[in-house]
Amino acid sequence: MPVKGILFDLDDTLFDCTGQLTGPARLRASTIFQNAHSHLNLDDLSQDQARLADTLGSGGAIEKIGRAHCLPNALVQQALEAYNRNEVEAITPFPDVPETLTKLSDQGLALALVTTGQPDRQRRKVHLLHLDSYFSEQQGTLILHDEHQNPLKDDALRQAAQNLDLPFQHLLAVGDKLDAEIAAANRLGLTTVRIRHGRQKDRSPQTQEERPDHEIDRISDLLTLLI
Ligand SMILES: [Mg+2]
Repeated sequence: MPVKGILFDLDDTLFDCTGQLTGPARLRASTIFQNAHSHLNLDDLSQDQARLADTLGSGGAIEKIGRAHCLPNALVQQALEAYNRNEVEAITPFPDVPETLTKLSDQGLALALVTTGQPDRQRRKVHLLHLDSYFSEQQGTLILHDEHQNPLKDDALRQAAQNLDLPFQHLLAVGDKLDAEIAAANRLGLTTVRIRHGRQKDRSPQTQEERPDHEIDRISDLLTLLI
């Protein structure tokens, strides 16, 4: 089945979210806790966040640490706000991303971005990464998935396919998370490509649904994959 379109994930797929944003965000939340309770250690707090985020998500991890240390709810809220603060720092796409997107688009492939997170924050990232010339809400090629409304990514991928007017069999889904976009795209019958980066870089598929059809290390690998 020829590939006619590609649905990209954003964080840790088109830019180094873990390195450029997640580390500093964890440090901000840790600093809020440590400023109020000086016996707490910044490195420990950040490592606990990283470990707990695997199962609880970033917000859940901060709440759990708050409960474990019997911290007042107002302080936990402050830490959550510091973590999610809307001013996104200077971020840059992976170096091969703009050129690869241009080449794929020139080859006639329809491209869309389906990204999970707080919608305003994700919108802002797209803008700061200068990816708004490739993906726009107006044109239906930027789909914002708010996990608080719906924990699964399936409907957002469905919406993207509909916006591109392409059946699932003609679409490739590219992302870093086996239990998010890879599982969702496999459920819908898209071809799945895992990029080995971010929090789940070393994770093995836990179910048949999490098994990607292909694995790549950088976005430009798509160019050879599609030949
Ligand atoms: Mg991601």
